[in-house]
Formats: sequence, C-alpha cells, structure tokens
Amino acid sequence: QLKEELKALDQKHFLHPTTSIEQQQAQGPAAIFTEGKGIYLKDMEGNTYIDGMSSLWNVNVGHGREEIAEVAKEQMATLAFSSCFATFSNEPAIRLASKIASLAPGNLNTVFFTSGGSESNDTAIKLARHYWLLKGQPERQKIISRTLSYHGVAMGATNATGLQAFRDFTNSHAPDFHYVYNQSVRHLREMIEALGPETVAAFISEPVQGAGGVNIPQKDYFKEVRKICDEYGILFIADEVITGFGRTGKLFGMEHYGVVPDMMSFAKGVSSGYAQLGGVVISEKIHQDYCELSKGTLMHGYTYSGHALACQVGLKNIEILEREKLVENAAHMGEAMLEGFKALQEKYSFIGRVRTIGLLGAIELVKSRETGELFQSYLSPIFVQETMKRGLILRTVTYDQDTVVFSPPLILSKAELDEMLRILDETFEYVRKTIVE
Ligand code: PLP
Repeated sequence: QLKEELKALDQKHFLHPTTSIEQQQAQGPAAIFTEGKGIYLKDMEGNTYIDGMSSLWNVNVGHGREEIAEVAKEQMATLAFSSCFATFSNEPAIRLASKIASLAPGNLNTVFFTSGGSESNDTAIKLARHYWLLKGQPERQKIISRTLSYHGVAMGATNATGLQAFRDFTNSHAPDFHYVYNQSVRHLREMIEALGPETVAAFISEPVQGAGGVNIPQKDYFKEVRKICDEYGILFIADEVITGFGRTGKLFGMEHYGVVPDMMSFAKGVSSGYAQLGGVVISEKIHQDYCELSKGTLMHGYTYSGHALACQVGLKNIEILEREKLVENAAHMGEAMLEGFKALQEKYSFIGRVRTIGLLGAIELVKSRETGELFQSYLSPIFVQETMKRGLILRTVTYDQDTVVFSPPLILSKAELDEMLRILDETFEYVRKTIVE
C-alpha cells in the first residue's frame, strides 16, 4: 500500500540523479531504503542488503553510527549554520580544516570547504586558473584530464570529466578542457607541447579512477606525471573524492604513488555521507602566493562552505576512522577480497581481469579471456540485478568494458566479506547456467 503510494509519487515528482528515465517510468524505484546498520541496508519491504558500494563509494564508516547522530544533534541545536564568508568563522570548520591539514600529505595545508565532490573540483579548477592570473600568467587557462575520468557534474567538473557521455549531456562543451589517454605519460607530454605549456593551468586526475572502472595506474605513472608538471610549471590536482579517507588502504590514494599534488579535492569519505561535505586542500606554496599577491576578494564561495553541522560530522567521522583503524582494515580486507576474486576467477571462465586496491575493486566480465571479447549488450547489468536479488548491492561500468565494481564500507569484517563472496559465487553459478552456457 505505502510502497505503491511512494512509487507513484516518485515516478511523478522525483527526477533521479544519473537515472534511466525510461526505466524509472516503467518500474519505479527498485528499492526504497529505510534503514542502515553497519554494512547493511534495509528497504521498506524488509529486505536486507549488503551495501557493497558504501552507497555511492562514500559510507566508509558504515551506516547507523549513533555517535555521529549524537554530535549532529548537539551541533544542530547549538549552531547548525553560520556564515564563513569574509571574516566570519566557526569552531567545527576551523578544527576540521586543521585536522585535514594535519592528515594531508606533504605540504598540503590549507582547506577550502564545499558541499561535495563536484563543487570541490570546480573550486580546484577555479583556484588554479586564478592562481595563474595572480602570478601574471593569465593565458594559463587550460585544464588537462584523463579519458575515463569522472570529476562530477558541476560545469567545470563535467568538462574535466573524461567520460564523454557526461559532457555530451550538457549540449555545449566548454573551451580549454583537454583529455589525455589514461596511462600515457607520452601523450601527456605531447598534449602539453601541442597546446603550448604556457597555456596550461593544471592537470587533474583521480589516483584510482572510480566511475571509469576502478583503473589502478602503473606504479610509476604519477611520478612521471609529477615530473612533467614540474618541468612545465603546471599545477597537479589530485581528485581524492573516492580515494580519500581510507578507501584504498591508505589515508589518501596518492600515497600509493609517493607523489604530493599541489591541490587535492575531497568529499564522500570525509563525512561518510552523514552530511554533505567536501573541499580542496591547497599547498603551503599556493596559499602563501595567494596571501602575498591577492588584492581584493576571493570571488568564490558557497553558502555552505564551512557548514558547522557538516564539519562537526566530518570531525567525528575522522575520529572513528582513526580509532577503529579502518584504513588499516581496508588494506587488510582488500587483500582478502582480491584472494576471493581470484578464487572466483579460477572457477568461472567468463571472469576476465580482477583487481583491488584497499576496499576498491573490480571484476571484468568477458566472453573470451583470450581475445577479450565482451558479451553482446553486456553481462554486468544483469549480474548486479541478480546479486541484488540475493542481498548484495553492486554497480557496473559499461563504457567499452563490462565490469562489476566494489566499494564496501571500510568496517568490513572477514565474515562479512565471506558472505559477500558467497553471494557472488552463487550469482556467478546462476549466470553461468542460465546465460553464459
Ligand atoms: N570526483 C570523483 C572521483 C567522484 O567519484 C565523484 C562522485 O562520484 C565526484 C568527483 C563528484 O562528487 P559529488 O557527486 O559529491 O559532486
């Protein structure tokens, strides 16, 4: 009764993000979630699911944390919000900025707050371009990103996104955005030379691409990128929106590659989704230059930059990450997850490559391992529908690939991982019998 009522209202009044409108109109919501606890979600029909994606790669500390709810309630009752524009500030924002500065690698030391990842990347792009304006190099406007990258849906973030479908959606591509092949440092150098190094403001990249298929770069890729950026004086922006705050088994993804960017955008795991929060950390050098060269106003800021409630939630979330050693757990369980994937790979011939880095993982599906040929019209969407029927929520990537991706909460225990792997095994067996053979 209630489900039917909500379904009808949903179809009529709720335009969903990143949705197939056709599918929504035909079927309505597949699940209306009502509760979350640990790695589990419950829907209004009482079905329980393992949240194998931490919802949107973000609920790192798991669902239903009472202590976050408590600080949120207290903060909301005391000071939910106050302006951080100009000379105003509040204690949670100050404390969180200094906490993040203490955790961020190298000399990344000063934080600009936003409400999410898209705003963070727009901010990084604008701060980079403005930096060159201050430095007397206003022609440095171009932004280089990678094919298969995802940086969000605000206008700058969309245009920096390598996955073309997101850019095409806007029906108008912004100038000064350029895309290099994923792992190719040679292409990056060629692109910079072709554009003219003196016209390039910044290079932006996720340490490990998420929405593009959990693509883990070769060990030396970012070292080479850093060298090239330094050689041409180009700023290096790391998009740590997914990889930040423990996802890959290190606090920040770039730590795997021994590289410190000039700016780092973050969101998602900073608050585990308990409040809308993101930001950009900039290097001491950039901050100093801003302090010395800037005259007048920094013409950029969101109403919710430094939101007191969101920042208080962020502080508690980071306290939990540290107290429960969840970054270490992600590293440890990520290795166990890879072992599990490899066992499945041995059993099912239509599993192609598998990979994990911390609790970020992927299983590629192929019709033929030898040729890499994919199933016609992709197998992974059917596969994840079947895992969902068995109580496991996952996600697929089907841009020139047929990949199932994984991003479970960092609290995952061995028993919970085994349960996940058991559901995967059962689903692979079902798909083998009913579809593949
Ligand atoms: N950057 C990366 C790497 C992301 O994965 C995402 C979201 O998935 C974003 C940016 C955009 O973040 P948001 O959806 O919070 O705007």
